[in-house]
Order: sequence, then structure tokens, then C-alpha cells
Amino acid sequence: MNHLGMSMSEAGLGRVDPSPAARPGDLGPLAPDRALAPLAPDRALAELHAGNHRFVTGVPRHPNQDASHRAAVADGQHPFAVIVGCSDSRLAAEIIFDRGLGDLFVVRTAGHTVGPEVLGSVEYAVTVLGTPLVVVLGHDSCGAVQAARAAASTGTPPIGHLRAVVDAVVPSLRRAAERGVEDINGIVDIHIAQTVEAMLANSSVLAAEVTAGRCAVVGMSYRLSAGEARTVAAVPAGSALPITSAPGDPAATSAPGGPVVTPAPSDPAVTSAATSAPGGPAVTPVPGEPAAAAPVVQDAPAPPPGVAAATLVAPAAA
Ligand SMILES: [Zn+2]
Repeated sequence: MNHLGMSMSEAGLGRVDPSPAARPGDLGPLAPDRALAPLAPDRALAELHAGNHRFVTGVPRHPNQDASHRAAVADGQHPFAVIVGCSDSRLAAEIIFDRGLGDLFVVRTAGHTVGPEVLGSVEYAVTVLGTPLVVVLGHDSCGAVQAARAAASTGTPPIGHLRAVVDAVVPSLRRAAERGVEDINGIVDIHIAQTVEAMLANSSVLAAEVTAGRCAVVGMSYRLSAGEARTVAAVPAGSALPITSAPGDPAATSAPGGPVVTPAPSDPAVTSAATSAPGGPAVTPVPGEPAAAAPVVQDAPAPPPGVAAATLVAPAAA
């Protein structure tokens, strides 16, 4: 139990223990060094916990990293989990979950912020590759969360496109403040849960896959020193989610037969940078570039309605 008020068993993932140390070898007939797909979402989660336990305890198997497996997966991939993780250099998914080639479909951004390209990548894995589990992977002492907190406290937006990262974290800061959570790692866990919510609220494709029982979405929080990834939020497969029409969700707005790709004007920022002579004027902000817009750190829009916080669970306290 924790502040979100539900246990793992209440989340419908009951036989998956959130602690990687609990049942490290209890994976039935699965062979960790063989192809794992297709798996049920709970088995996929169990595989991640088992691999993380091997990593934590210093007995990794490095499965699926040999030449024969490399050749075997060259013709196709069936990853059993999507990892939407922070870009932090200490958070390499295949290492901390002790997996290899073809196992994990990894998308990483600073602060695991989720924009259209990230959502499209997740939707590809879930709908085309049939991946049954999506994991949001955050970590303690996250620099993106710390940068967002610093920007919010000073009212000074960061430079360039870094502001997009900060803006994506601001709703999590607001939620943490509402709950009286002030320590950075508590805020990180809230941001992980918030990211799970945001993905489901902004991707009707992913929400539909979860509702249909083909996919689950889980949030994990990693400890840099201990190496342990624990589950802090979960939306089980089969959850009845509202399939919302969030702004910017193509699945909700695109017309059949309409154009798929429209030409975009060239990016003047790129053009000016490419044509600037040495010693010439510095690249100046252009309309649409973050530095040219008004500060938004303190007034980011509220998360879109749709996936209620009650659909999230936090199975285990830290
Ligand atoms: Zn981070």
C-alpha cells in the first residue's frame, strides 16, 4: 500500500511480486535465454523483475547476446516489453534487466517525457510487434525532474528545447505539491505514474490495446546505486479505460484516406545554423523556438481528462 491506495493484487497483476528479490527463479518453464514472445503481460513483467534481480545480485546471464541469437533475430523482432525510459546514461534497459537482442523495444527521452514520436513508437511496438507490456522507467535523482523543480522555483525557463522537457514534468510537480511530497525521489515516483497516465490519456491506440486485454502499462522506479527497479504504478491488461479524443491524437482525428504525411516548411533554425559564416551572428531565436516564446513553466496546462488517477495503482511502498 501507499498513497495511491491499492495493492498489486488489487491491480489484477496479483501473482507478479513487485519485489525482484522475492521469487527470482519462479518463472515456470520459461528459459530466460530463449525467445520470450508472445507472453502474457504478467509473465513479461515477471521476466523483467527476474532479470533485474540477476543484475542486482551480480549474477547476470547476458541472454540473447551471442552471435547465433543475433543471426536468429535478424529476420524479425518480437520484443516482450516496451521500455519508455529516461535517457540517463546509468539506466540502460538491456543491462539493468539482463536481457539481449530482440527482447526490449526501448524509447528514451530525458525525464521519460512523452511526445508524439514516443507515442508513435509505443503504438508501433504494441500494435505491429504485438508487445504485451509497456514500462515507464524512471529513477532516483533524475536530472530532468530536478531541472523542472529548479525552473518552477525560480520562474526561469531553461534554454532552448530543454524547456519542452521541463514543461512535461510540471504537471507532476503540481501533483506532488498537492500531496505534500517534497523529496526529489517521491516526486520522481509521482512523475512516473503521471507519465503512465499521460500515455494512456494521449494515445487512444494504447488505451484500446489495454482495454482489449492485449497489453498492460506499468511504471517502475530504479535506484541508481542499488540497481533495483520496483513497480510503482500499474494499469493491468483488461482495464476499462476511457478511449479519449485527446488533442493531437491522430487516431481520434484522422480521416480515412486522408494524407498521411504533409510537407513541412523547412526549419529556419536549422537553415540559419547551417548557413552562418564563421564569426557571423549567433543563431537567433525564431518563432516557434522555445527561447522565443513566453515562459510557461509556472502555467503548464493541466493533464487532459480521461484516465483517472484511480486507475493507477502503486503496489509497493519504497
Ligand atoms: Zn532521469
